[in-house]
Amino acid sequence: MVKLGGFRHVAGLAFVVAASVALAACDIGEITDVTEAGWRAEADAPEGWSEVIANPTDIKVTAYVTGEVFAGGGVLIDPGVDGVPEGLGEDRWVPSLSYLVQHPSGKNVLLDSGVRAGECGYQILIVLDFPCRNKPGQDVVSQLSRDGIGTIDYLVATHFHGDHASGLGPVIERYDPVVLASSNEIEALKSPLRETQGYRYEQFAADMRVEAADNGFLEMPYIGKAADLFADGSVWLLATPGHTPGHMSVFLNASSGPILMTFDAAHLEATYRYNAPGGLGADLEVASDSISKLTALADAMPGVALVFGHEPTQWAGEAIRRDLTTIE
Ligand SMILES: [Zn+2]
Repeated sequence: MVKLGGFRHVAGLAFVVAASVALAACDIGEITDVTEAGWRAEADAPEGWSEVIANPTDIKVTAYVTGEVFAGGGVLIDPGVDGVPEGLGEDRWVPSLSYLVQHPSGKNVLLDSGVRAGECGYQILIVLDFPCRNKPGQDVVSQLSRDGIGTIDYLVATHFHGDHASGLGPVIERYDPVVLASSNEIEALKSPLRETQGYRYEQFAADMRVEAADNGFLEMPYIGKAADLFADGSVWLLATPGHTPGHMSVFLNASSGPILMTFDAAHLEATYRYNAPGGLGADLEVASDSISKLTALADAMPGVALVFGHEPTQWAGEAIRRDLTTIE
């Protein structure tokens, strides 16, 4: 196994398909479609984002660093784009996060689950290997337990790559949340070829209830499809495809200030700043369009805090837990 996030050779496509089907057959729980979320209805859609940010909600947002994934080689950023500083395309360890949003209704939302405890590396297209490392107790279930969190109502899966979702199985076993993802991601999740897309079989060991965010998608300025999870403008799921076909970003309308979380629509601050998405298997044209949409949205929100998918400088030092609503 190559440890550098690079390619390794395999016997051929037949082997790839056979191996992935065999892996996909391991320990898969049942995936049940549900319709439980209280999305804002189209008839109540806001005029625009200024109406949304004029009515923020007292949500609390906590970031958990669950471990680190080794990535690069053009996955995090396209180093060839004008302006991208040298060295950013090189392989390196970057943090893998999960975020807790506590809504005043008492409902708790987890944004991604980060990486699982113990061995957590994964592959994409079988040939691209992403090693992973974490400390005992760093997985999100351990951290939530330490913080006394007893319930998770929704788990928003921005996409199902291992560095965002290999911790999903333990979260489902502990909390049984409704998993919210775009219909394109759910389709990929149900495919027997899911392993080839970086979706590890352990995530599916538990039975899971899933709901398509498409059920709540409204047409909103700048971004296009956006779903208002609690129908109060507090937590928005934004369609930002390209990194994967159904990738989503998140907008949090906190009383302390708006927070726009790109997730892997922009892995790094420079990916966003220079509109330089990278990644094998990603549709880079669509990914670039998604960055443009996020930029337009951010520009329309003075004082918005931007949180990127894997920007190491946002999580420097020993901190593995941070209250995002206190960030200036
Ligand atoms: Zn990622």
